[in-house]
Amino acid sequence: MTAPGLCIAFDLDDTLYKERAFVVSGRRAVAREVSVRSGVDADELFSLMERSENAFGSLLERLSSTPASDMTIDRVLEIYRYHKPQLTLPSESVMLLDTLRDKGIATAIITDGRSETQWNKIRALGLDIYVSDDRIIVSEDIGADKHTPVPFELLTARVGAVRYMYVGDNPVKDFHYPNLMGWQTVMLVDTEGVNIHNQDLEAVGADFRPKIEINNLKDIVCLLH
Ligand SMILES: [Mg+2]
Repeated sequence: MTAPGLCIAFDLDDTLYKERAFVVSGRRAVAREVSVRSGVDADELFSLMERSENAFGSLLERLSSTPASDMTIDRVLEIYRYHKPQLTLPSESVMLLDTLRDKGIATAIITDGRSETQWNKIRALGLDIYVSDDRIIVSEDIGADKHTPVPFELLTARVGAVRYMYVGDNPVKDFHYPNLMGWQTVMLVDTEGVNIHNQDLEAVGADFRPKIEINNLKDIVCLLH
């Protein structure tokens, strides 16, 4: 196989899908399991978490007068982190990945997080249909995250492309090393204001800022010419 000309690597959370969807899925999983033990309606528990600043703190408080009063924060976190999420790949991600596949452009994913959690998300979204497993780099799998050059260097060693692009959402860690390595860097702007991490570009140094900002993933196609 000849080396690809361009490889586009994507961040996962709040780039290929909205992490808010994982939060909802996780809270529903917690509510379901805790409901059985506590006798409290699952929808009530879910609503309580959704409207609370401290979702799991409020949940445990509500459970204190039920048969599930021995529930611990560790157990709740375990359910949340390791549940099999119900997620749908947004249509703009599907369209972009279809287009890139049709054009023969190599794709990859570099994401920070726990191995099981991130792989559960990837499989639930069907991203493994588009990106081969050896081009999906999860920080816990390799023992290094995007605050280091390691995941980016590992990808270049695996893919051997001529040029690279990284598409992400978080200026604190998504663009610094790709910028230093001469990659194209693209930030998907949080137009809905629902991301987990803020995108304050003034709060970071010039090396941390993306070279390009887009409002929709599909805009990437326009950057290919
Ligand atoms: Mg992200």
